[in-house]
Amino acid sequence: MLILKDLLETNISKYGEYPFLYFQDRIVSNTETKRYADELANGLREMGIEKGDRVIVCMPNCPEVLISYQGITRAGAVIVPVMFMLHPREIHYIARNSNAKAVITSSHILQNVELAVEGLEQKPLLIVVDAPTDERAYNFYDVLRKTSVDLESEQNEITEDDTAIILYTSGTTGNPKGVVLTHKNLYSNAANSVKHHDTDERSTTIGVLPLAHVYGLTISNTCYLTGSSIVVFPKFELKEVFEAIEKHRVKSFSAVPAMIHAMIAFPQADEYDTSSLESIGSGSAPLPVALIHAFKQKFNADVLEGYGLSEAAPVVTAHTKDGIIKPGSVGIPIPGVEIKIVDDDGKELPRGEVGELIVRGDNVTPGYFQNEEESKRVLKDGWLFTGDMARMDEDGYLFIVDRKKDLIIRGGFNLYPRDVEEILSTHEGVSEVAVVGIPDERMGEEMVACVVKKPGSAVTETELIQFCQQRLAKHKTPRKVFFLEQLPRNGVGKILKTHLRQTAAEAAV
Ligand code: ATP
Repeated sequence: MLILKDLLETNISKYGEYPFLYFQDRIVSNTETKRYADELANGLREMGIEKGDRVIVCMPNCPEVLISYQGITRAGAVIVPVMFMLHPREIHYIARNSNAKAVITSSHILQNVELAVEGLEQKPLLIVVDAPTDERAYNFYDVLRKTSVDLESEQNEITEDDTAIILYTSGTTGNPKGVVLTHKNLYSNAANSVKHHDTDERSTTIGVLPLAHVYGLTISNTCYLTGSSIVVFPKFELKEVFEAIEKHRVKSFSAVPAMIHAMIAFPQADEYDTSSLESIGSGSAPLPVALIHAFKQKFNADVLEGYGLSEAAPVVTAHTKDGIIKPGSVGIPIPGVEIKIVDDDGKELPRGEVGELIVRGDNVTPGYFQNEEESKRVLKDGWLFTGDMARMDEDGYLFIVDRKKDLIIRGGFNLYPRDVEEILSTHEGVSEVAVVGIPDERMGEEMVACVVKKPGSAVTETELIQFCQQRLAKHKTPRKVFFLEQLPRNGVGKILKTHLRQTAAEAAV
């Protein structure tokens, strides 16, 4: 039986002391992480946090985020990671829904947190990592100095089926839902990801993804297992990322398509030695095939696309460094994870046909926090219905076609925005593109492309529509093209299609 704290215990017994985290001019070793985490657990227990209580962690990436995760779990409490850039109203929803007993934050987020907890029946304790204790909040390290309680006996009560984390989805389709992930969900997924990549090589990776997102979080978990180090950044700054690749001779790291896009477009990229880079992982959002080729050309490194979702803790499929790379595919299932493509009645479809992707394994969530209705909707006979449309090829490689909810139904035909996005992203005047459906009286829905031009490009709507007409069936061609300065994105760079649909519908009137 393995629980989250074992990640760090095993790491230390297997690899001894080593620099685990690099952050600005600080280095925090694995043993220091454990000491701080044990002290935090003591402090939290001393302050009245009990087994099963929810503790929010809401701040930009820094060592204290990972120390907090380990500390909260050691106290037997439940981690609630929250993106620091959320609006106080959104943080309020999460604090209320999870009935959080404490919030760990940083000084420049504190004001938002204070606004967020206003009006809550039970005010959570506020702990701030970088300011002295005052009437507003406790200092994090003062909490660590609190006297000890008998932690060992408390820890023995934690089982692999206990809730370790509640992750709130971005709520693009209504209020965010709290995805419950158990110790087993998270531990098995991290261990199976490591097994999938079949490497016990220790390395230094860069943590550019928010640790508050399941994708960033799982990378830190796999680092414990492989004895690797992480350079942690509070935000994605290209200059710092390139400096770190050069300094630490980084061989691989995980990112999202928006970051890969930005790295390719970075004008100063050639000033850095990136020759150590062998591969970059991509997940969380569709990756245009054109980016895979552009990245290879520029950095001589492979883009290994994978797929996952919070409800699957998160990794479902991935490409591996030594396996076959199929551009456009998200790879094959990692060990311990089964997948099927099914029709609307839940019946398995033959290879090659497009249907909904369903997932089963130790990684699958037991459900949403206090939301039985939604849990029942997505979990049936142990299978998780992902809401993603996909197909599998004859070699078992998975291709994500689109999100079911992003599908456009135009005059009775199902249209997948991704088909058009792939085509438009190969146009020399297009920097980024997202295709959405907007209401249309005659056709039900109409397809529009929202395009960010490359700097200096004078490409027109007519040119782009013609470009699509030459490459796609007539009914798959977008009727309108809107040019935008940038695409709306969430904290992990995912395009917010709901916002875009609204903008496009308003612009079309
Ligand atoms: P919400 O469901 O509220 O919108 P979310 O998008 O933040 O929340 P996550 O768990 O972060 O939820 O994202 C999972 C989703 O991301 C998947 O269901 C899928 O639609 C998309 N996704 C992940 N990896 C890929 C990929 N490689 N290609 C295409 N889509 C992907």
